[in-house]
Amino acid sequence: MKKVITLCLLCISSLILAKEPIKALIVTGQNNHNWKDSHLILQKILNESGVFTADLAITPSQGQDMSNFLPNFSAYKLIVLDYNGDAWPAATNNAFLEFVKNGGGVVVYHAADNAFRNWKEYNEIIGLGGWENRNETDGPYVYYKDGQIVRDNTPGPGGSHGQQHEYKVEIRVKNHPVTKGLPESFVHSQDELYDRMRGPALNMTILATAFSAKITGGTGRDEPILWTVNWGKGKIFHTVLGHVGGEKEHPSIDAWFSRTLLRGAEWAATGKVTQIK
Ligand code: ZN
Repeated sequence: MKKVITLCLLCISSLILAKEPIKALIVTGQNNHNWKDSHLILQKILNESGVFTADLAITPSQGQDMSNFLPNFSAYKLIVLDYNGDAWPAATNNAFLEFVKNGGGVVVYHAADNAFRNWKEYNEIIGLGGWENRNETDGPYVYYKDGQIVRDNTPGPGGSHGQQHEYKVEIRVKNHPVTKGLPESFVHSQDELYDRMRGPALNMTILATAFSAKITGGTGRDEPILWTVNWGKGKIFHTVLGHVGGEKEHPSIDAWFSRTLLRGAEWAATGKVTQIK
């Protein structure tokens, strides 16, 4: 009898351990960044976590026929956007919006928030964007000042950054599943510090900011670094961290980048964070 019970306990524990990984799809193929490195970095982080299994959807290159780029978004729980390039076919845009509307998770990674300035819903999903001639018509600047969120309608360009440097990231919402248990701040390795981001900023929670010092070419404001957006039933995690350029080394891909990415990705896909790292 004792043996039977022991065996059953083993069965149960192996069932728990054999929890299905979350299916993720990384969308890439065009970017003003080094997407050939970045999408593999993202895939490795996701797969090695044991929490996700990540497939790739790679678009044709810039200027090529995009009409056959029709990923099956609905087969996934999470879409990771590492894309900044030509417009997708209307059917793909619609399928992406359906995916989010129906509760799909999205990770917006670094320059994915430069993409698709003229796609209204995409801008609602990313919350804030930059570059591509964004300005006051795209929404307010959003940042922290004296511990308060400021929505600033001052006219001006959206999206810039000073010189790359190491900087402190400050957690602003400590009881969110993505940030719970993290220290109040952490030092992130050399990276771009996006500033002057602007957009609709609806249903948005700023989880973390970093001070963009004027001495490094920044704004003198506490700029949003990690945030979430709710759109339809979908959950979006946006990280501006992780610049990957043409250099061999990518210092921005540090443990804090991975840790916050994985937590945000799991929350976007499931609403929970089980990872203790
Ligand atoms: Zn960059």
